[in-house]
Amino acid sequence: MAGPLDGTVALVTGASSGIGAATARSLAADGATVAVLARRRAKLDELAESVRAGGGVALAVEADITDPSQALAAVDRVVVEFGRLDTVVNNAGLMLVGPVAEAPIEEWDRMLAVNVQGMLHVTRAALPHLLAAAETAPRRVADLVNISSTAGRVARPGTAVYNLTKFGVNAFSEALRQEVGPKRVRVSVIEPGTVDTELASHVRDGIREAIVRQTEGLELLEPEDIADAVSYIVTRDRRVAVNEILVRAAEQT
Ligand code: NDP
Repeated sequence: MAGPLDGTVALVTGASSGIGAATARSLAADGATVAVLARRRAKLDELAESVRAGGGVALAVEADITDPSQALAAVDRVVVEFGRLDTVVNNAGLMLVGPVAEAPIEEWDRMLAVNVQGMLHVTRAALPHLLAAAETAPRRVADLVNISSTAGRVARPGTAVYNLTKFGVNAFSEALRQEVGPKRVRVSVIEPGTVDTELASHVRDGIREAIVRQTEGLELLEPEDIADAVSYIVTRDRRVAVNEILVRAAEQT
């Protein structure tokens, strides 16, 4: 059956788990060839295999996006392998939260390195290819989707530096949208609420328990709920640009 993304190539970062893995599966189901990027090779291989088993085309790309040369090499590898790049989903991210006064500075550095610098490295490497894809068949439009957070819209005590990174993602996305939108590279942000993934498992002991308590009893979002939003954005007709989608769990305040 023909899919809306047939003939296109997508790169999803942070695809070894959670939202990224679900997004890669969703884009593959829409017909895209998918390149899945993260550091955990075995998880990427498993995902790529399951996409292939479903009749899709997938490539596992092991890379640490905090290193600009690895981000560039990863993007180049996708283009060498498949000849083009139509869709990039900057999804890789870390959430290391807790009060500012007690925070280990090393946690801030890691979060900034992935959520901000990693996103910039991949974007910079991918943009020339997205601009080229926007001029050519099959779709004559390209998409850069940045996974932000409700934390990119609302700042709260205990998440200050995570807020800083995600407000930064939103600001960068809006400025870039105005730069490249006229060239048919659509730049969008998605702001998920609380999604059931590995994200909170990296929070340090003592803080993690408090986060778990905050969401106890809530029916959380599934990664597929955010993957649906990505697919919605990138399958619109080229005349339509969905700039921003905020998706909260229904009971979340
Ligand atoms: P996960 O922890 O499941 O996924 C994070 C992904 O990022 C993993 O695949 C991880 O892979 C990858 N990653 C981390 N560091 C690097 C790196 N240096 N280089 C390459 N890849 C890296 O969490 P989610 O799926 O929840 O998170 C995805 C995005 O969604 C993040 O940006 C997060 O901030 C955002 N988000 C999540 C929410 C939630 O409630 N879960 C809510 C709002 C936003 P690996 O370790 O293999 O490298």
